[in-house]
Amino acid sequence: MASYVAAIDQGTTSTRAMIFDHSGRVVAVDQREHEQIFPQAGWVEHNAEEIWENTRAVTAGALAKADLQAGDIAAVGVTNQRETALVWDRKTGKPVYNAIVWQDTRTDRIVDQLGELGGGQERYRPKTGLPLATYFSGPKVKWILDNVEGARERAEAGDLVFGNMDTWTVWNMTGGPDGGVHITDPTNASRTLLMDLETLSWDAEIAGDMGIPMSMLPEIRSSSEEYGKVRPRGVLSGVPIAGILGDQQAATFGQACLSPGEAKNTYGTGNFVLLNTGTEKVMSENGLLTTVCYKIGSNETVYALEGSIAVTGSLVQWLRDNLGIISNAAEIEQLARTVEDNGGAYFVPAFSGLFAPHWRSDARGVIAGLTRYVNKGHIARAVLEATAFQTREVIEAMNADSGVPLKSLKVDGGMVVNELLMQFQADILDVPVIRPVVAETTALGAAYAAGLAVGFWASEDDIRNNWAQDKEWTPSMDAQHREAQYHNWKKAVTKTFDWVE
Ligand code: ADP
Repeated sequence: MASYVAAIDQGTTSTRAMIFDHSGRVVAVDQREHEQIFPQAGWVEHNAEEIWENTRAVTAGALAKADLQAGDIAAVGVTNQRETALVWDRKTGKPVYNAIVWQDTRTDRIVDQLGELGGGQERYRPKTGLPLATYFSGPKVKWILDNVEGARERAEAGDLVFGNMDTWTVWNMTGGPDGGVHITDPTNASRTLLMDLETLSWDAEIAGDMGIPMSMLPEIRSSSEEYGKVRPRGVLSGVPIAGILGDQQAATFGQACLSPGEAKNTYGTGNFVLLNTGTEKVMSENGLLTTVCYKIGSNETVYALEGSIAVTGSLVQWLRDNLGIISNAAEIEQLARTVEDNGGAYFVPAFSGLFAPHWRSDARGVIAGLTRYVNKGHIARAVLEATAFQTREVIEAMNADSGVPLKSLKVDGGMVVNELLMQFQADILDVPVIRPVVAETTALGAAYAAGLAVGFWASEDDIRNNWAQDKEWTPSMDAQHREAQYHNWKKAVTKTFDWVE
């Protein structure tokens, strides 16, 4: 009897394989980072072949650490960095260009030109739930077809296919050029700017606007069903691949936000707040995205409102790698604790423009409020506070869109080990912040989707029952101080606008 479920989490900075038991406990994890390629300002790429090699290595690594074999694994789920776009040759399996990462802003002109066809930034929102922005996959695919020599002809001849990292991973796991299945799920497809949110099918008109042949697009299946088995001779050979969820939706699922009104915030490279809105698609009037939350087999589609923030944890990395003020991420907390407050400094990390709720690709980062008094401790605080202030902006938008103020916030992701940040987050939101025992909710959510499909878990109630609280931070800041700081933050945000002309 197979007593475990595996998950592959193909993230922005690393790829992880994790093995979970029936109670949702982590049995083993293996992880490898991949290179972040920055060919010029605003461009971010990944080598997809390196990522596939890492995927195989960490899957084998996790199995070995748990001392398990393929026969012990009931199913495997896949979760992934969303929007990161790859085009490859279906016969050779070779990518025609590096994967263009979600943070990449090279498509800003393409995005403007699409808006000029009529409707501006809101052109595709009625169909897709998304504003036109560099963030999403469709314009990135157009860029590859426009800029890689011969790509458009090969695409039109049916030789090239498109996929986000879920599609690339599953295609390779099921055999690649040798019978690999070319599929995705609605949570990933809803981030391309190419999918109709109502019908969950590709929209020929939008694909036409972007010059993307429909033959390139993967089949859209549900988020939880058996898509195929891992190829012979592969690690996990013969195990059913039975779940796909984009990373943020997977975290929402893993956090058991399974009823309308429940929300979570994941603190990773960026921050992503998702609010489950049930079977209703709530169209945002305040700069949020409407997206698919999950679709379990033939059940009705569940939607979410999302506030996507591009730069949070990656600002900590920037402090480490570009300025060298800290030597590892955990040190930022020590450094921030050397001072009482931010010393008047506010850091708005608009490195990829600003995402929700502003959607300003013309914005660039600023540190505002500098005086001779400010030292590196204050900068460390300003860096951590930027995550909390940006979160407040999207929660305010969410409260306005949904009409129901959030009462508490479930959190997860790499930054939630930072106690100073968690307390400041509770203070600046004025609601309790709650961390679960299993903070690896992204991989867990993908495991749940796969396990549900094969009957390893009987129903969503199993997921609710497995969720357990680790720690809660309660707000303790006085209202006047809170609002004064938030006011300063808002002022700093306005200084980032209109930088790129
Ligand atoms: P992703 O899944 O997006 O790759 P993770 O959830 O693994 O990201 O989180 C990694 C991020 O968390 C990194 O950007 C890192 O800078 C940040 N991080 C890790 N530890 C800390 C810490 N103690 N304090 C603040 N940020 C941290």
